Amino acid sequence: MFVYLSRHYLTYNINNMEKTLVLLKPSCVQRQLIGEVLNRFERRGLRIAGMKMMQLSDEILREHYAHLVNRPFFPSLAASMQASPVVALALEGVDAVQVVRAMAGPTNGREAAPGTIRGDYSMSNQQNIVHASDSTSNAEIELKRFFRDDEILDYTIGTFAFIYGDGEANR
Ligand code: UDP
Ligand code: MG
Repeated sequence: MFVYLSRHYLTYNINNMEKTLVLLKPSCVQRQLIGEVLNRFERRGLRIAGMKMMQLSDEILREHYAHLVNRPFFPSLAASMQASPVVALALEGVDAVQVVRAMAGPTNGREAAPGTIRGDYSMSNQQNIVHASDSTSNAEIELKRFFRDDEILDYTIGTFAFIYGDGEANR
């Protein structure tokens, strides 16, 4: 018989926990895939540090997609993002930004590999289910854009010692 012993000896000595912003877009909400997509992040071992449903304003969209406001598809992108509420998530984990980007897959769902969120649920370059921050610096900016400080909750999940190996994570 195998028995898990108490692992209070774990040392968390690498300060590499990150938070990243995910938006479950109207293409996710309207197709009633919120639970399915959220489940993937939970199963992976990411901690949900913040979560809320919101209807995006013109102002927040112009800021969030500032790199795209002058592109011809911006009006249709904005309309697609305002077609219904979105769910904003703050997800935490070691290397969370890169891990979540890899889970999302490339922008165009038709080019995304099966097994990625876009590759499993999207046939579109626009209606591609999720937004995910593309760098740690953008993640910090984007989290502040969508969450007040008191909406990001610092709690520990009980399975933490079984998500990371000894010394891999610092909370
Ligand atoms: N988008 C679009 N048409 C394009 C490129 C992008 O409608 O030709 C939309 C798409 O929904 C994408 C979002 O604009 O997710 C932001 O574009 P970005 O290049 O930042 O892609 P992402 O980081 O979401 O993969
Ligand atoms: Mg982007």
